[in-house]
Amino acid sequence: MLDDGKALVLFSGGQDSTTCLAWALDKFESVETIGFVYGQRHAVEMTCRAPVREAMWGVNPDWRARLGEDHVIDLSVLGAVAESALTRDIEIAMNEEGLPTSFVPGRNLVFLTFAAMLAYRRGAKHIVGGMCETDFSGYPDCRDDSVKAMQLALNIGMARQFVLHTPLMWIDKAATWALAKSLGGDRLVEMIVNETHTCYHGDRGTRHEWGYGCGACPACELRAQGFLKFSSGGA
Ligand code: ZN
Repeated sequence: MLDDGKALVLFSGGQDSTTCLAWALDKFESVETIGFVYGQRHAVEMTCRAPVREAMWGVNPDWRARLGEDHVIDLSVLGAVAESALTRDIEIAMNEEGLPTSFVPGRNLVFLTFAAMLAYRRGAKHIVGGMCETDFSGYPDCRDDSVKAMQLALNIGMARQFVLHTPLMWIDKAATWALAKSLGGDRLVEMIVNETHTCYHGDRGTRHEWGYGCGACPACELRAQGFLKFSSGGA
C-alpha cells in the first residue's frame, strides 16, 4: 500500500530542509515535497522553495527525474491559536521557560500529522524532516523521542507503516553543511548558500559568505557559526 521507494520531505526552503531534500533524492527513487503556510511573519522562506527545487536539478541530473510534485498546505489556523514571534509582531527572545518566542507549541506535531495524511494518499512510505536535537532551539517537538512517538501514533492511527527519517537529528550545523557537501559537492553547498533562507527577520539584503540574512538573529548566528566551523575544516 505504501511504496518503499517513495519519500515525502517536509520542505520549507531553509538550509536544513534543503539538505534533507538532497538526502532523500540521494536515497529514494521518487521524492515529493510538502510545505506549510501558517501565517509566518515573513514569506521569504516560502518564496525560496520553488527556486531551490529547480536548482536541485542543476546539482545532480539524476535528481531531476526523482523530484516529483510539491504540495503547499494552508495551516494559517495555527496563527489563530498560537501566540508566537513567528506569527505575531513580537521580538524574538527567550521566554521564562528558556524557549524562544518563535516557538509555536505543537507545530511540528501538526506538520508531521499533515505530512502523514498526504503520504497516505500519495503512497509514500518514507517521511523526511529536518528536526534536530543537537543545536536546536529548544523546541520539544523537534526531539528524537517526539518524532519516534509520532511515528508510532501515526502508524497505529492510520494503519500504515510509515518510516520517519530525521537525518539531521544528531548533527550540528557545521556537520549539516558537511552532509550537503557529501551529497551534492560544492555545487550543492553553493546553492544552499545562495538560494536557501533561514533568517527570522526575512532579510535578504546582505549576502554573507554563509548566505543571506540579518546576521544578528539566532537563526543567522547558528548558520554563520556552523558555516565558519565547516569551512575551516572543523566539521
Ligand atoms: Zn537573521
